[in-house]
Amino acid sequence: MIGMLRPDFQYESLQDIPVELFRAEGIKGLILDLDNTIAPWNDKSLSSEVIDWFEKIKAAGIKACIVSNNSVPDRVSAVADVLGVLYVYNAAKPSKKAFLLGMEELGIELTAIAVIGDQLFTDVFGGNRMGMKTILVSPINQKEFLGTKVLRFLERLVGRKANYTDNNKRKM
Ligand SMILES: [Mg+2]
Repeated sequence: MIGMLRPDFQYESLQDIPVELFRAEGIKGLILDLDNTIAPWNDKSLSSEVIDWFEKIKAAGIKACIVSNNSVPDRVSAVADVLGVLYVYNAAKPSKKAFLLGMEELGIELTAIAVIGDQLFTDVFGGNRMGMKTILVSPINQKEFLGTKVLRFLERLVGRKANYTDNNKRKM
C-alpha cells in the first residue's frame, strides 16, 4: 500500500523533467494533471517555461493528454487547446476509469505511459495502481504561497519586535 504512494521519479516542476527521461524509460505518452501541475489552481495562465516544455515533448514525438478532476470543461479545454494536447475533464482520479480514458485518448499501451501530477493520492497512487510510470512534481501554488507566507511571517515578527522595543524605550 505504502509502495503505491511512491513515485518512480520526482521533480521540482514540470519543466524540470528532461525529455531524455522519457526516451530512456520507453515512454511514448503522458497523462498530465492540470491544477497545480501545469497551471496554478483555478488559473488559466501558463508560464512560458511550461509552454516551451510542451513544445519539446511534441518535438520528441511524445503524445500528451491532460486528465483532470476539474469539473469545468471550459477550464480544461482552454488549457489543452493552447498547449495542443488531448484532455479528459471530470476524471475522478484515482479511479481506474480516469486513467483508462486518458490511455484511450492517447492510443498507447499502459507500459509506455507516464503519469505526471502534484498529488500522491490521486496522481501517483492512481498511476502506480495502473502499472504506469509515475512522476511527482511540487504543486505550483504551494511553492508561491509558502514563499510569501514565510516572508510575511518573518516581516511580522521583525515588525512586532521593532514595535516592542520602541514601546519599551518610550516607557524608559
Ligand atoms: Mg493537481
